[in-house]
Amino acid sequence: MSPAGGGAAGQGARRVFVSLGSNVGDRAGYLRAAREALAALPATLVLAASRVYETAPQELADQPSFLNQVLCLETGLEPRDLLRQCQRIEADHGRRREVRFGPRTLDIDILLYEGVECDGRELTLPHPRMMKRAFVLVPLQEVWGWRRGMPALDLAALAEAARRTQAVRVVEEADGVAQGAEDEP
Ligand code: AMP
Repeated sequence: MSPAGGGAAGQGARRVFVSLGSNVGDRAGYLRAAREALAALPATLVLAASRVYETAPQELADQPSFLNQVLCLETGLEPRDLLRQCQRIEADHGRRREVRFGPRTLDIDILLYEGVECDGRELTLPHPRMMKRAFVLVPLQEVWGWRRGMPALDLAALAEAARRTQAVRVVEEADGVAQGAEDEP
C-alpha cells in the first residue's frame, strides 16, 4: 500500500500516532483539512488513517458530538516541532483556546511518538489521557499494525473497557490512505 503523503519522510524518520477531533461546523471537512495539512508538513508522510467515528463529548457533556479519527504519520520533525505545527494547523482552521475540553473546530493531539516518553508542560508523551478514551483507543486499534517502535499496549483490552461507558460509531470509511495492518512482520 502506498503512503498518502507528499514526499519521503527521510532517513531516521519516526512513527507517530495523532488523533483528530472536531465538533463545530463542517466537522468532516476539518478532519479532511487536517489530514491534508499534516501530509503537507516537511519530511512527513501520512502512512495510515482509521475510519472516522462519531462520539459523545466526554469531559464537558453539554456540547455537540465529535468526529474523531487517528492517523499514523512518519516524520522527521522533532516532537516539539510537530506539536507546534499541529497547533498552527488548529489555529489555521479557526481553533480558539477558550474552554478547556470545550467545543472546537479542530483538535490535534500527539498520542505516541516512536522512542519518546516525556512529561513536560508543553508536551507529554504518551498523551496523558489517551488510555481511557474510547474515541482514541477504538480508531487507534485500526491503525495499530503500524506501531513500529511503540510501547507494548493491550489496546484491545483498553478499548473494550473504555467502550463499556463511552459510545462510538463509525460514520465514514477512510479514503485514499492505508488502513489496517502494515505489510511487514
Ligand atoms: P488541547 O486543549 O487538548 O488541545 O490541549 C492542548 C495543550 O496540551 C497544549 O498546551 C499542549 O502544549 C498540551 N499538550 C501536552 N501534551 C500534548 C500532546 N501529547 N499532544 C498535544 N498537546 C499536548
